[in-house]
Amino acid sequence: MSTVVPDVVDVPVYRPHLDDHTIAAATGALRDGWLGMGPLTAEFERRIGQRLDVGPRPVVAVNSGTAALHCALLAAEIGPGDEVICPSFTYVAGHQAVTATGAEVVFADIEADTLALDAAAVEALVTPRTKAIMLVHYAGIPARDWTDIHLLAHRHGLRVIEDAAHAFGSKVAGRPIGSVGDLICFSFGPVKVMTSLEGGAVVGPTSASRQLLEEVRLIGVDSDTASRYAKGRNWEYDVRRQGYRYHLGSIPAAIGLSQLELVDEFIANRQRYCRRYNQALGQIDGLTVPGTDFADVSPYIYFVRVDDPEQRADLIAHLGARGVGTGIHYPGAHDFTFYKDARRGDLAMTEQAASTQVTLPLHSYMADATVDQVIEAVDSFFS
Ligand SMILES: *Cc1c(COP(=O)(O)O)cnc(C)c1O
Repeated sequence: MSTVVPDVVDVPVYRPHLDDHTIAAATGALRDGWLGMGPLTAEFERRIGQRLDVGPRPVVAVNSGTAALHCALLAAEIGPGDEVICPSFTYVAGHQAVTATGAEVVFADIEADTLALDAAAVEALVTPRTKAIMLVHYAGIPARDWTDIHLLAHRHGLRVIEDAAHAFGSKVAGRPIGSVGDLICFSFGPVKVMTSLEGGAVVGPTSASRQLLEEVRLIGVDSDTASRYAKGRNWEYDVRRQGYRYHLGSIPAAIGLSQLELVDEFIANRQRYCRRYNQALGQIDGLTVPGTDFADVSPYIYFVRVDDPEQRADLIAHLGARGVGTGIHYPGAHDFTFYKDARRGDLAMTEQAASTQVTLPLHSYMADATVDQVIEAVDSFFS
């Protein structure tokens, strides 16, 4: 019996790269039989630290990017009565991490160059209740105002939580994101540039921040350094705070380690595909492409913006009919029911981006013909 699937998508918007190497790493870790947090988690953290050149900053692996953001906010002692200034134009995981602490989100507008928080818009919203800024590196593009936002945070005594879920391997101010700044969070979810199936990591500001991050990660348990990742039970521990069950197990760590070995090839390929897209699609009247050469970008998604928001749904349908998958990243979170009363500044650029953005397929390995298929499908809509 055959099933008719009316709208088959030939080129999915995401396609994680899972090869024999990753499958062997996962089965090897399963055979080893230690499923919980163990030496593989510690090794994953060490290799992430090496890749991002974090120096003495701690890398704490967790079981999702959302958990990484929640841990970072708690480590910054954000809680009820506090405000965290965020972009509305991001994945709601970031807003949920803020409200999970009991703090409130405040929505600030983004700037047109990198679609990340605009420093002036942020500063205009600072009040005595403001405790932190959540800066998102959208699509892997380093936020234009990274330096200004750290300077204004310093002036006002605020923490900066960087949501670098899109930006593992991107560079800001000439340095890998994660190696500079305050608290930096990554995601290794299913469709991110590099995956551990589900997973994430927080990079803390000082070696002293490790203990707090680790206690938040593992149900408040304060265990000493030597036994932290040992296979075996440590009966001697204290509990000093509220924590969560956010640690990363051995199987996802093994998968993450296998992906880390390939991540530079993933990034180089994705940069190449993005440059081809920019070159071809940048010539089309009616479209705006990302204003970057991708040199410092580890591209998570490739996106365009239609000049006329009225055209977006038609473009998406046109691409779907030609087997090209699309996405929208993101609708503004300020319109969600749960956040409708959140304080906000003027969100003109957010509204513009949220109503015109279209994500096109980007994978770590794409045939030239696949990239061409996407380009031709877009081109045929406008010509
Ligand atoms: C994916 C993502 C997250 C959350 O990561 P998960 O691993 O899915 O929990 C947070 N912020 C942004 C911008 C993301 O894209």
